[in-house]
Amino acid sequence: MMHDAIVVGGSFAGLSAALYIARARRKVCVIDTAAPRNRFASASHGFFGQDGSKPQDMIARARDQLLQYPSVQWQPGAAVAAVAQNDGFDLRLASGETLAARKLVLAFGITDVLPDVPGLSQRWGKSVLHCPYCHGFEFADAALGVLYAAEGLVHQALLIAEWGPTTLFLNGNELPDDATREKLLARGIAIEPAPVLRLEGPHTTLAAVVMADGRSIALQALFIAAPTRLTSDLAEQLGCAIDDGPFGPMVRTRADKLTTVPSVYAAGDIARAPHSVAWAASDGVMAGTALHRALVFPETGQ
Ligand SMILES: Cc1cc2nc3c(=O)[nH]c(=O)nc-3n(C[C@H](O)[C@H](O)[C@H](O)COP(=O)(O)OP(=O)(O)OC[C@H]3O[C@@H](n4cnc5c(N)ncnc54)[C@H](O)[C@@H]3O)c2cc1C
Repeated sequence: MMHDAIVVGGSFAGLSAALYIARARRKVCVIDTAAPRNRFASASHGFFGQDGSKPQDMIARARDQLLQYPSVQWQPGAAVAAVAQNDGFDLRLASGETLAARKLVLAFGITDVLPDVPGLSQRWGKSVLHCPYCHGFEFADAALGVLYAAEGLVHQALLIAEWGPTTLFLNGNELPDDATREKLLARGIAIEPAPVLRLEGPHTTLAAVVMADGRSIALQALFIAAPTRLTSDLAEQLGCAIDDGPFGPMVRTRADKLTTVPSVYAAGDIARAPHSVAWAASDGVMAGTALHRALVFPETGQ
């Protein structure tokens, strides 16, 4: 069967795109491996009407609502290859099955590449955090840390001091200059130059950062800005232009989320920075409506 659209990724961006395509009564298939980026967090914050909801519950509710529409097909599993054809695209799944569609929405998300510090990965999304707007309020006035990995982390430390007393862990790196040091100290931020050995605390909570020189510094939350990578190489396979974003590669799109390849749209974390559930959903709506209009008005060449 030829679908009007295939959406790769059934999370905040992909489900939003698919909902608008389905409401326009077009045949849409969503392919999904069910591993959204925020699955490590027990609650998602900051999204209209759903502040504090469990991410998987938000997605499950949206998927159930989408599946009420008769023109929707749900395909669990990974899309592994995409090839342009005369009238659209063939998408091969890991199962070996091939699906066809006139247009595509790529919404497969990004993957955080976490620093190799013992005790860090099991606390990701719980007490090791990426974004103060998403999770800072829950640690207000607690002892906070920022793990330095690149120059941008100085900016993050200055920001995070809004939520509580902050220590910048240089982890053996140099500060860029004295002016930066002055700025940090003026904001009341403590600076720890020694390398970090490991994180400690019961289960996924954080109690202390153990330094290589043997000291243990009490801490309740540690912020990091991990580099990211695209979770799938489908955009590269299709020939979409990819730019360097502030955290990692980003698929280049126009404002309506069309990539540099005709009929291929990209939405959510893969095609923007900064990232949030709200922005991903909004981009999905934009991609879904733009894709539908391109089906109705093919002369626009999208
Ligand atoms: C720890 C953590 C906590 C966060 N907390 C918040 C928060 O509180 N509030 C907030 O607004 N934002 C939060 N975020 C950011 C939020 O998770 C992202 O902005 C959002 O998930 C992006 O949505 P998306 O649909 O673009 O991608 P994702 O949610 O990552 O979804 C991508 C989907 O594509 C699927 N997929 C990947 N590859 C394939 C493939 N080849 N074939 C088929 N399917 C595929 C995945 O399984 C997944 O279901 C958090 C991020 C992290 C890392």
